[in-house]
Amino acid sequence: MNENAYPTPYFLIDEKQLAADFSMLEEALRTSWPNYRIGYSFKTNSLPWLVTFFRARNVMAEVVSDDEYALASRLGFQDCGIVYNGPVKKRDSFQRVLLAGGIVNLDGRRELDWLEEISGANADRRLEVGVRVNFDLERLCPGQTTMGEAGGRFGFSYENGAFAAAVERIGRLPNVRIAGLHLHSSSKTRSVAVFEAIAGMACRLKREFGLTLSYVDLGGGYCGGLPGRPQYPDYFPAVAKVLSAEFDPAETALVVEPGISLLSKATVYVTSVVDVRDIGRERYLITDGSRFHIDPTMIKHSYLFHLELGEGARGRLARQCVSGFSCMEVDRLFEYEDGPELREGDRIVYENVGGYTMSLSPLFIQYFPDVYIRREGKLLKVREHWTPEEYMAGSYLYGEEKGKR
Ligand SMILES: *Cc1c(COP(=O)(O)O)cnc(C)c1O
Repeated sequence: MNENAYPTPYFLIDEKQLAADFSMLEEALRTSWPNYRIGYSFKTNSLPWLVTFFRARNVMAEVVSDDEYALASRLGFQDCGIVYNGPVKKRDSFQRVLLAGGIVNLDGRRELDWLEEISGANADRRLEVGVRVNFDLERLCPGQTTMGEAGGRFGFSYENGAFAAAVERIGRLPNVRIAGLHLHSSSKTRSVAVFEAIAGMACRLKREFGLTLSYVDLGGGYCGGLPGRPQYPDYFPAVAKVLSAEFDPAETALVVEPGISLLSKATVYVTSVVDVRDIGRERYLITDGSRFHIDPTMIKHSYLFHLELGEGARGRLARQCVSGFSCMEVDRLFEYEDGPELREGDRIVYENVGGYTMSLSPLFIQYFPDVYIRREGKLLKVREHWTPEEYMAGSYLYGEEKGKR
């Protein structure tokens, strides 16, 4: 079937590009810091096909909730293949991953309480944990962090002494060792300098607290596939240079948790114009795609896209408002300025849409769309468009309420 014959909207992942980007990551790590682990960030896109693609390449599952942990288990990750992060872990999965020798990065006080209990109940076992560090990255990289001077809320604060207190408290447990530091910080710029600053912080903490670390976890937040922006071969040599002041790959692994940078370049979202209408001074293009599918948090101001136009000559228009399928006025994707006049059947293909889309979009008005991969020129389906069957899974109807009797 010709690619233009597949019903829109759908996501399409180019498998070859995905594999190439993954290889670029591995190669950049191997040549910069040969002792490394990759934890794929589930929250960025937990499409089961994608997750199993990465599992087949030996990555760990980086999860930040009990549900993500359960999904990782369901998709074949063992507990020792989990990187467990975030402030809302559950006690049971925390214990499982900890005892199995997965990576557990402590995020807050209640996890120190759990650790004390678990270490006491397993006095014959040696346990290793990581600690998530909250530090003032904004001071080191002014204007670059997501939260700016307000700072982030994750992990133990270095500046207010919570990190030192956590190190001290863990140090009192005879069978527990701080094996790693987790320094994920989100930045607006995703610049190499941000990662150098993060690596520098790891060095500083190692010195200041006399830590012997099995791993330094830089977290995620890399750029990938965007022209003029850094790529993996820019980040890791720079990071390795900073880390080598205090660390040696023979003893300390570099853990990375990429998400969006692995997916962006390989993924597009294909939509069609279904209606064209003029109202007032505006030309509206009604499309079968939605901003909810590719910008569910409504933060994007522009999109990368290309057009696939039907036959026939056409004029140009100064402005066309590209809008989505939902019945909300905010579901307008962009004003297309000074472009060819679009008609019913023309396709708008959005690029770089792999992260924070397929699994984050709401089940609003239309359910999850089809997802295909392209392999050797053919499209293969990896997720069916959801129907009311999937939507209603786990629901009880009026008159059939659970616990009624
Ligand atoms: C979100 C997140 C990631 C992945 O971020 P990307 O921007 O998708 O690379 C990795 N680690 C942690 C702890 C995260 O919260």
